Amino acid sequence: MMTSVDNRVRTGPLSPVRGFMCLLALLILVGCGNDSAPVRLQGKAIGTTYSIVAYGLPDGLDAQKMHQGVEQVVADVNVVMSLFKPDSELSRFNKYDGADWFPVSKELAGVVRTAKTISLLTGGAFDITVAPLVNLWGFGPEKRPNKIPTAGQIKNAQAEIGADFVEVRIDPPALRKLKQGISIDLAAIAKGYCVDAVSGWLKDKGVSDFMVEIGGEIRTAGTKPGDAPWLIGVEKPVAGGRSVQAVIELNGKAMATSGDYRNYFEADGKRYSHIIDPVIGKPISHNLVSVSVVEDSCTMADALVTGLMVLGPEQGINLAEKHKLSAFFIVRTEDGFAETATGDFPQHKAMK
Ligand code: ADP
Ligand code: MG
Repeated sequence: MMTSVDNRVRTGPLSPVRGFMCLLALLILVGCGNDSAPVRLQGKAIGTTYSIVAYGLPDGLDAQKMHQGVEQVVADVNVVMSLFKPDSELSRFNKYDGADWFPVSKELAGVVRTAKTISLLTGGAFDITVAPLVNLWGFGPEKRPNKIPTAGQIKNAQAEIGADFVEVRIDPPALRKLKQGISIDLAAIAKGYCVDAVSGWLKDKGVSDFMVEIGGEIRTAGTKPGDAPWLIGVEKPVAGGRSVQAVIELNGKAMATSGDYRNYFEADGKRYSHIIDPVIGKPISHNLVSVSVVEDSCTMADALVTGLMVLGPEQGINLAEKHKLSAFFIVRTEDGFAETATGDFPQHKAMK
């Protein structure tokens, strides 16, 4: 059977707004020819875009109802974890300066718990309390700096952060600050969470064959017609133009990608990434240009790729090997890119 590109590129950054201005792996769906027409939905979610392809809707669900349902799920996620909404649960927790338990939804408690797990796993490379450093380096809501922060400023900001300063209780769900002024930024995990939330809603409604993509993070369920697998492309990590580095089968799993080739600012001729290494207090600067992780949970995958991206080519690959993570690393070399796959990362077809 012929393989053809049957879906346009879905990608994301719409506005250079805080936390979500990253760009996102370009994902291309490549599929086998099929007869039954898919339902395709697109829209905006958490500062980026979503795109959904579904086959065979159950009785009682049409494209319009599905669209409304998805929009509601996305709106609900915003109400919980958006930092652009001053009255979101997360914004209210960030503003709260008490040291006692702050009741939150079980969704927020769950995401923060996952985030803390990944912080621990990555030795603090992934850290949802990183906001003071993000702001200092000009990736926050304020204007980009045209000066590089001083060592003193970096040290001061570092003293304000640490995932251990946020405690989570699941039942009843609540968060607690162990350090005054600590705040949470879920930008690096919220897209994955939203993918899981939308997928969960679709499954609940009886949709069994679909692909959900939000800002480059993706999950599939079931198959395409004729039992054809979902084929997903990982973007070649270059700033200009868009092409595909590798294509994988993603069956009933989630994949997140952290690509560091588009979101950056330049000062004194040097590029500064929007991903910050909390341990050194600076934007990452190494030769790891893209990491993808396949996991059951897209929330987990999203956090993991950011953590691995911070860790860089050596430590990141070592950690992925040690924990048998299904990961795919693209490292810039003198004459191009080198790929490393770890764990059970799906067999991929290199695209030259
Ligand atoms: P990518 O998809 O490139 O990994 P994400 O959008 O998932 O990027 O996350 C990047 C955003 O996360 C940044 O804009 C910032 O708000 C926040 N962030 C930056 N550094 C870290 C870090 N070390 N740990 C957690 N969040 C971070
Ligand atoms: Mg991420």
